[in-house]
Order: sequence, then structure tokens, then C-alpha cells
Amino acid sequence: MRPFVFHNPTQLIFGKGKLSALSGEVAKYGRNVLLVYGGGSIKRSGLYDQVITLLKEANAVVTELAGVEPNPRLSTVHKGVALCREHHIDLILAVGGGSVLDCSKAIAVGAKYDGDMWDFVERKAVPQAGLPLGTVLTMAATGSEMNGGSVITNEVTQEKMGWGSPHAYPAFSILDPVHTFSLPRDQTVYGIVDIMSHVLEHYFHQDTNTPVQDGFCETILRTVIDTAPKLVEDLENYEHRETIMYCGTMALNGMINMGMAGDWGTHNIEHAVSAVYDIPHGGGLAILFPNWMKYNLNADPQRFKSLAVNVFGVDSAGKSDEAAGLEGIEALRRFWTSIGAPSTLGDYDIDDREIGSMADKAMRFGPFGNFRKLQREDVVEIYRMSL
Ligand code: NAP
Ligand code: FE
Repeated sequence: MRPFVFHNPTQLIFGKGKLSALSGEVAKYGRNVLLVYGGGSIKRSGLYDQVITLLKEANAVVTELAGVEPNPRLSTVHKGVALCREHHIDLILAVGGGSVLDCSKAIAVGAKYDGDMWDFVERKAVPQAGLPLGTVLTMAATGSEMNGGSVITNEVTQEKMGWGSPHAYPAFSILDPVHTFSLPRDQTVYGIVDIMSHVLEHYFHQDTNTPVQDGFCETILRTVIDTAPKLVEDLENYEHRETIMYCGTMALNGMINMGMAGDWGTHNIEHAVSAVYDIPHGGGLAILFPNWMKYNLNADPQRFKSLAVNVFGVDSAGKSDEAAGLEGIEALRRFWTSIGAPSTLGDYDIDDREIGSMADKAMRFGPFGNFRKLQREDVVEIYRMSL
């Protein structure tokens, strides 16, 4: 393990009926609330009305920012920052999926900064403060509800990049699995792929003596593999939604990966694709991750064998580590295909035209990946394998 400090300040409020905690939480931060949401799913599901009722109970003065895009855009962040200034906002309340939460995080730190919030994404400046943020999550996927990370798309430069700050953690997050019942099957699958990908990003590390962490990762992966096929056939099953929602939070709240530097290369490679083609993050990961794995199998075949044996039940007797590892990668691909995830860039009508510019975007901060450092030619090859 590498030395570490663990601190996660988010109050997680989890379970059926827990939305009732909202008024009490909101009242702690002041009256002026910026309610941030997406393209209308919360209005269709009735969650919007419930939230408004609870905000009234808290005597909140509500300003709204609606229409946050999947792959949230910098221009929307700018709108939110302006609203915070104009209405002297005390608390930002994000109600939605990861995109709404990520956008709200960017607004929270942008509102406390004189320059352009994009400076933080470009590493030109570091956030020194943020407005308090509360969330009501409607989609299990990103873990954004309990971490300080966010991903923003600059639609002018066609860049999509992650950033993070201790000032971007939600103060509280309310997770009721019932709020995810209305999530359609395709988005449910994208969320499942994202959750598994976060665990896999941790799992591919080069640190030593991490048996508990590796076991946490394997348990979450096995649990998702067991639950996901049942959930996609029964989208309003409370227990399955609950299991996946808990997995989503645990996959990226820092609890399972203490003392390890995971790889994160595939996320970087995916962000460059969704920056150019605006595809769902989970869809991009489903295409790219197995190819990243094949490409890097020889960096540490033993690790791939562990995944194959401990997660996919591959029988490694009489096989080389490489051969067993490859069976695990193929099992992952088969599993994602079986629940309806895409497997090639062609599934999104993406051909080789933009590979060069996507590779340039992925290389923005130089060679990347902690399990194996990737150079530009490696990235190009992984895109080619994914066509
Ligand atoms: P999302 O982009 O927030 O939502 C995807 C779609 O699902 C939207 O159209 C949304 O509709 C809909 N939706 C959400 N909840 C719903 C519900 N309960 N019922 C019906 N429809 C619902 O998806 P996401 O995967 O959570 O977030 C993706 C973004 O997060 C990407 O930009 C990705 O790069 C980023 N990300 C962040 C982190 C992190 O740690 N912060 C980690 C990984 C990825 P509405 O717009 O109408 O609500
Ligand atoms: Fe992700």
C-alpha cells in the first residue's frame, strides 16, 4: 500500500423513503436554493413535485437551472454560476444523474471564483472554496454522489475532462433506489458498465500488499455480475436497484481503494470519444475497456488471471496466466454484450476519421495510466482495436 489520508465528508442518506430528510438538510444551509436538474426525467417521474414540496417545507426560495445535458457543458456551468451570484444562493441542490451532479459541482466552485471555472479543469487554478451542495440521485453509475470528482465538456474546444477538489464533495446525498425505477434499460446498462469500470480502474494497479482492497473490488464485480441480468429484466425490483445503487457509490467513494493508485487510462480514452461524438460514457467504456485490457495483458498477466479466476470463475488449471487472463477478458465482453452494452465504435457509427484528434485530446496532459503508462501510439492502437 502507498501511504494515504482518507477523508470523505459526504453524509450519505440511503434507503426507501429517505427523501423526507431533504427539508431538514436544506434548512441547515440557508434559504436561497439553486435547484439543478436535467432534461425532464424528474418531472415525468414525479420526483420534481416531491422535491418542491419539501423545499417549501424548508421555507426555501428556489431558483431553477433546468436542462443540464448528459455530458454536461461548460456553458451550462456558466449559466449556473451567474444564477448563484444573481440570487445569492446558499445551497445548490442537484436532482438527477451524474451529469446533473457533476455540473452542480462545477457551479459550486465556479460561484466562489472570480475567473472562469474552466481554469480548474485545465489545472490553471485550484478551487479554494465551494458553495454547499446537496444531491438527490436518480441513477446509479458515477459515484459522483459521494466523491469530489466531476467531468465537464467544453463544447467550443470539444474537450471533455475530469477535475476534482475537496470543495466539490456533496455535503449530503439522498439515495432512494425507488428514484431509479424509471431509468430505462439502456441507461441502466450504461450505469452498470460505469460502475464495473470504476472498480476495474482500481483493480489494475501496481501497488503491493492490497489483499483487502482487491477483495472488495472482486466482491463488487461479482455482485454486479449476479444482479445486473436480473435487474435489466425487472427494472422496478427494489432489491436489485438497491444493490446496484450501493455498488455504484462504493465503487468510487474512496473506500475500496485506499493506498492504491488505480489506472484510469480507459476513462481518459473514453472521455476523448464522448467529447467528439457525445456518446454515453458507459457505452464508450463498454467498447474500450476490454480492448484496453487485451492491449495491456502482458503488463501483468497475473493480475488478469486473478480477475478471470476470482470474478469470472475461469478454471486456470494447466493454463498460462496470459491464457487464463484472456478468458477473463472475453468473459467480461460476453457479459456486457449479454445485458445489451455496445461492443464496437461502429455501434455508434464511429469510424477511424477522428482517431488522431481523439488521441491528441487523450494526451492533453501527457502519457497517462498508472498500471501501464500509455503513449499516443498506444491510444491510437486501442481505438483501432475498438472500431
Ligand atoms: P446522466 O448523463 O446523468 O444521465 C443519463 C440520462 O439518464 C439522462 O438523459 C437523464 O435524463 C436520464 N435519467 C437519469 N435518471 C433517470 C431516471 N431516474 N429516470 C429516467 N431517466 C433518468 O448519466 P450518468 O451516467 O449518471 O452520468 C454521466 C456523466 O458522468 C458523464 O459525463 C461521465 O463522464 C460522468 N462521470 C462522472 C464521474 C464522477 O466521479 N463524477 C465518474 C464517471 C463518469 P434527464 O436529463 O432528463 O434527467
Ligand atoms: Fe465513469
